[in-house]
Amino acid sequence: MIEKRDFYINGQWVSPATPNDFNVIDPSTEEPCAIISLGGDADTNAAVAAAKAALPGWMATPVQDRIALVEKLAEIYASRGEDLAQAMSAEMGAPIDMARTQQIGAGSYHLKTFIRAARAFEFDRPLNDRSPNDRLIFEAVGVAALITPWNWPMNQITLKVGAAAVAGCTMILKPSEQSPLNAMIFAEMMDEAGFPAGVFNLVNGDGVGVGSALSGHPDVDMVSFTGSTRAGTAISKNAADTLKKVHLELGGKGANVVFADADEKAVKRGVMQMMNNTGQSCNAPSRMLVQREIYDDAVKIAAATAQKVAVGSAHDEGRHIGPVVNEAQFNKIQALIQVGIDEGARVVAGGTGRPDGVNQGFFVKPTVFADVTNDMTIAREEIFGPVLTMIPFDTEEDAVRIANDTPYGLTNYVQTQDGARANRMARTLRSGMVEMNGQARSAGSPFGGMKQSGNGREGGIFGIEDFLEVKAVGGWATE
Ligand code: NAD
Repeated sequence: MIEKRDFYINGQWVSPATPNDFNVIDPSTEEPCAIISLGGDADTNAAVAAAKAALPGWMATPVQDRIALVEKLAEIYASRGEDLAQAMSAEMGAPIDMARTQQIGAGSYHLKTFIRAARAFEFDRPLNDRSPNDRLIFEAVGVAALITPWNWPMNQITLKVGAAAVAGCTMILKPSEQSPLNAMIFAEMMDEAGFPAGVFNLVNGDGVGVGSALSGHPDVDMVSFTGSTRAGTAISKNAADTLKKVHLELGGKGANVVFADADEKAVKRGVMQMMNNTGQSCNAPSRMLVQREIYDDAVKIAAATAQKVAVGSAHDEGRHIGPVVNEAQFNKIQALIQVGIDEGARVVAGGTGRPDGVNQGFFVKPTVFADVTNDMTIAREEIFGPVLTMIPFDTEEDAVRIANDTPYGLTNYVQTQDGARANRMARTLRSGMVEMNGQARSAGSPFGGMKQSGNGREGGIFGIEDFLEVKAVGGWATE
């Protein structure tokens, strides 16, 4: 059993002020795989004090030196990929091969993208050619609390730490208590890379404890949060008294609009994307809207595709999907599948219960619901499991109306071979991102949502800018 109770504060691993043991459960086995400690106010205060003390020195460090440390971090990250993959596989159930490729790959991708973006960014520049005495100075927001979820842990940690570091913020990371091990390995890497003491601190804890202490802390200038819309609301309220900057990356209920002229792989691709990471992605294409002419065929293809998705232990190699993260998520997903049935949707693959022959581990059957209407609970709530809902539509206007009829606005997807229509859709869909015909967005493209999916953008220069204030100076001496 791994025992990792310490926190990383002011450049050292330190014991919790008051031990508060917490078992990290392996969702493939339902057995504990590690013991950590949940922090409290004293640990949070110590970490915030360290970050505050380190801030002036870190802000004054030339940006090239800050970038050089992130480059060093990226090198170390590459060398510790296997440790990270094993940790994520055990604590949040990412199948080991998927952890080695997608989960780990996301982190190195973001660090490299930040290095490129920061090199190209002018942190100090004139306002414009006509105003030589006006200067813009982009400087760190200050002490940043980084609160991250368990589902793509390295993706989210690197998106925040990489950007905050080059921007000149000092930080306190509070990873999800469900997946703390990868974050603690990451802290070891920050230490090895040589970031000055206090620039990066890690305190484990839960939302009501360390999470709330950070969002309400008077010496924290900014909270960058990724997680549920529920927690995003709680954080915003708690942060209001100190008027700190709050950056939110929240849930989603993306529409994947499949027109009758979509390419022949569109439906299969949409199902596979939904099932990836066992459906635990905020940008999952969870509502497949299919044009009526091809709806029946699409349902058959989707059902057959989902039935072929293998489910297995996160410790086994191969291309299967793993368990969902924990018992609470398992129960929530089971309940939502039952609600879908009760409200009249038609199960064409999967359903309630564990996959056949499995009686342990938080494994869910890859499930597809047909004949869903957009007012059903399964079309409105983020299920965060391997569950696809399929909704028919008639016209482009119908598709836009249904797609936009959700409190969320993170990523929508469009499948059509009519370029003009695809572009029209991209303009009308109310979401921070639109991906069309299976084409992913490029490195440096901003990630984030509208409406109840949040308010910030992460990745590339957009992610760095979220950790910067712009200071406008008049009367700049030009000599
Ligand atoms: P969660 O909101 O329960 O927890 C996320 C983090 O917030 C954890 O570290 C948790 O301890 C902390 N937290 C919880 N309540 C808090 C509070 N009141 N104050 C401060 N911190 C608090 O979410 P989760 O279950 O870990 O993650 C799943 C959710 O994250 C899904 O809704 C998913 O859509 C969302 N998500 C969004 C994005 C995005 O970029 N938009 C990316 C990944 C996940």
